[in-house]
Amino acid sequence: MSSRSRISQPPSSSNFIRQIIETDLASGKHQGIRTRFPPEPNGYLHFGHAKSICLNFGLAAEYGGRCNLRFDDTNPEKEEQAYVDSIIDAVRWLGFDFGPQALFASDYFDFMYRCAEYLVESGHAYVDSQSADDMRHHRGSFTAPGRNSPYRDRSPAENLALLREMRDGRHADGAHVLRAKIDMASPNINLRDPAIYRIKQAAHHRTGDAWCLYPMYTFAHPIEDAVEGITHSICTLEFEDQRPFYDWLLERLAEGGLLERPLPQQIEFARLNLTYVVLSKRKLAQLVQEGHVDGWDDPRMPTLMGARRRGYTPEGLRRFAERIGVSKANQRIDFAILEDCMREHLNEVAPRRMAVLDPVRLVIENYPEGREEFCDVPNHPQRADWGTRPVPFSRELWIEREDFTATPPKGYFRLYPGNRVRLRYAYVVECTGYDQATDSVRCRVFEDSRSGTPGAAAYKVKGNIHWASVAHAYAASVRLYDRLFTVPNPGAGERDFRLELNPASKEVVTAQLEPELRATKALQPVQFERHGYFNPDAALGGFNRTVTLRDSWAKS
Ligand code: ATP
Ligand code: MG
Repeated sequence: MSSRSRISQPPSSSNFIRQIIETDLASGKHQGIRTRFPPEPNGYLHFGHAKSICLNFGLAAEYGGRCNLRFDDTNPEKEEQAYVDSIIDAVRWLGFDFGPQALFASDYFDFMYRCAEYLVESGHAYVDSQSADDMRHHRGSFTAPGRNSPYRDRSPAENLALLREMRDGRHADGAHVLRAKIDMASPNINLRDPAIYRIKQAAHHRTGDAWCLYPMYTFAHPIEDAVEGITHSICTLEFEDQRPFYDWLLERLAEGGLLERPLPQQIEFARLNLTYVVLSKRKLAQLVQEGHVDGWDDPRMPTLMGARRRGYTPEGLRRFAERIGVSKANQRIDFAILEDCMREHLNEVAPRRMAVLDPVRLVIENYPEGREEFCDVPNHPQRADWGTRPVPFSRELWIEREDFTATPPKGYFRLYPGNRVRLRYAYVVECTGYDQATDSVRCRVFEDSRSGTPGAAAYKVKGNIHWASVAHAYAASVRLYDRLFTVPNPGAGERDFRLELNPASKEVVTAQLEPELRATKALQPVQFERHGYFNPDAALGGFNRTVTLRDSWAKS
């Protein structure tokens, strides 16, 4: 089922949204462009939002326009300031600039209400007093047209009086709603007199008790766009059927002189779906609430706060958004593409370090006790300008347990009795055995084999392993994060997505790290040679694995 197609990077003018923008600029419909990212402050942002952020801010930057960060805070009950703060933080972290301040739909409540009165006065809206059940029955279905409400023919004056009573708190929740008067027989159910205002005796996180009447999302959103002079209102495909109402509403308000032309154009694209994660707010909340993960910022979560702790970088996410492009067809993007984008960026920016994740002692029998020397180790193989660092070397080293075996399988080139390997940036050693009593691998060193000296070339070995000096290394916890789910499409069909959680998505080990790693600053990614990219964790100490060096899921 899983399509593992790797998408190659499209040339940057090839997507349909860029074509629309270029046409509008060429025809003179718009002098410049303005886009927006409109989150509802009712949760934390995830990778899907990152795609939308990169798209909206990216297009604005590319065409010399602006992108607003606008909180669509029209639903008082589910919204909180904490989400607002976290979303602002995430957008900035991704590297985008939304100008001096974020905008809020609630700042336009007065104007929206004025629009509602205009629609009532001009005969384009009415107050319906049916029960919710009656309204549902009258709405019809995909196959059957709807029927008019008995209240549909109230006069504009009667509607206006009722609307004002609703605004003034004289009616209970659900007693009346304001509806657009369009067409109850329309084949598009969204045009069957959609509700535009409902009574809700609820305090709002910004407007407090000023209102007990709140606009519906489908009414508020087009007005927000128009008020802000948005030229291209980019949203996900599920809003396609709302577009006729979006246009209807803006046309009516422009006719009435409440809005200026040109009006914004809604453009839909396919939302991001990713393999091996879930992106639904509801499912993510369930993972947190039921304790399957350690909070919203658990590094395994596809949230932006989780990504940051894991060590995913804004550059990597932006690269990912560009690589997958935009399309009109729903598809599931392979998680491996995201990981590749991270590897590519981290490869460029992460200094190399040595860390032994599953340590066993290696004793060099012919190396004097108490002696220490320093090996010159490059900080990045392709960046000579990053220089080298001195890494201490001594008689006892930590190496990976899997770099020794008493009984080598075919093709094993690392330590086994009689075999030689190079200790990276240091010496060639020959394994002499393993001592059960001290759980240590034994070896002898060839004094003239040191890397960087003329003698080094005389030794031809196939294995090249990393190490850390026992006397100098320090122990730290390292969390080896892996994919959160074991299957590409968690919860497909009727399955419970929680049964498909990857039990091995987090393994905590006590590693031995070279001393230089103590100096790693917050959010400074590093590569542990042969292992992958890691990110220091400010809260827990130690390091989190961001991504392995190679895709270990590709063959399965
Ligand atoms: P809700 O179900 O609460 O509406 P939402 O994920 O749509 O959840 P919003 O805050 O409304 O949350 O989303 C803000 C913006 O992010 C919207 O423009 C939405 O289209 C976009 N967005 C959300 N999820 C994705 C996704 N998976 N891919 C691309 N864009 C997304
Ligand atoms: Mg939404």
